[in-house]
Amino acid sequence: MRKYRLMAPGPTPVPEKVLLKMADTIIHHRTPQFQAVLTGVNEKIKKVFKTQNPVFIFASSGTGAMEASVVNLLSKGDKALIIQGGKFGERFGEICRAYGVLTVNYDVVWGEAARADVVKDLLKENSDIKAVFSTLCETSTGVKNDIKEIAKVVKETSAVLVVDAISGLSADELKTDEWGVDVVVCGSQKGFMLPPGLAFLSLSEKAKKLIERSDLPKYYFDLKAALKSYAKNDTPWTPAVSLIMGLDSVLDMMLEEGMDNVLLRHARLAEATRGGIENMGLELFAKSPSNAVTAVKVPEGANGSAFVKKMRDEQRITVAGGQGALKGKIFRLAHLGYMDEFDTISALSATSIVLKQLGCNIEPGKAVAKAEEMFSR
Ligand SMILES: *Cc1c(COP(=O)(O)O)cnc(C)c1O
Repeated sequence: MRKYRLMAPGPTPVPEKVLLKMADTIIHHRTPQFQAVLTGVNEKIKKVFKTQNPVFIFASSGTGAMEASVVNLLSKGDKALIIQGGKFGERFGEICRAYGVLTVNYDVVWGEAARADVVKDLLKENSDIKAVFSTLCETSTGVKNDIKEIAKVVKETSAVLVVDAISGLSADELKTDEWGVDVVVCGSQKGFMLPPGLAFLSLSEKAKKLIERSDLPKYYFDLKAALKSYAKNDTPWTPAVSLIMGLDSVLDMMLEEGMDNVLLRHARLAEATRGGIENMGLELFAKSPSNAVTAVKVPEGANGSAFVKKMRDEQRITVAGGQGALKGKIFRLAHLGYMDEFDTISALSATSIVLKQLGCNIEPGKAVAKAEEMFSR
């Protein structure tokens, strides 16, 4: 028997008390009891999103909220700017094209962050762009984008800014209202410490105006229906009752810790992971690293896929490999959600052991020593 550790950038571990809460009897959703829970959840989640605007909750994975942003903001033949520096940035473009939206792509070198001045030039060249799609943490490369600077540029135009913060929210700073981000999309199985199954979407006043004229086909994800129900603290369709019970519980945990402290904890774990990785002689992949996940270059001579497999099958630790063009070339250690110092130390220690077993020249204890040193400060 071996203890299982989930250290991928989604799904992430779920706290025991949240698991218990979700195992409770399912109540009916059209009752004062459930409505009381939803009313509280709707208020509390705004604090995590740092917005005064409504945050809608869907029973889908995060991609559902990405699709909802496209089909509600745009119309057939509209033009959208896609900032893509990895798998998830590309997904927005795929959704747009599936619905007949024209895409202008800003191809960011994988591993680098998007530049606000390039976004500015592209918006100037294409003044008919209606929406800009971006990613806070590009999970496939471990890069954090400078959403604050990108928002400054987009705010000056008639376009709306959509941010995929599915893995970034709660790990990397995102001041939705203060920075002027119009739509933030998120999912439950990352920083929210819940199982997969919920998606979230916040909506600014500027974005709300676009919904009125949008003619793309939609039904389940129709935000006009969502807005009407939201006003009555209700949902148009059956909500995922048990996941929302869990959400109520994790929101309490996050707000009790305080959002600033949640961000600080992620920063601390991310810094120790990066420090430990470099101290064992490995190289980081992201030039501007996110505090949600650390992407590491697989050392010369080792096989990245074999590393991930050995971690899973022998150490019972799930970490992520590389996606697309990065397959076999990087691995990704998450420090996202319900994680603490000793999770980070375990991940570093196992990484060191498994790489050594794969024939890499790793000096035992280097990674953990660095992390311990940082944690004892
Ligand atoms: C996980 C992730 C997604 C996809 O979310 P699903 O819940 O799998 O649909 C999208 N964007 C980013 C940045 C992610 O990390």
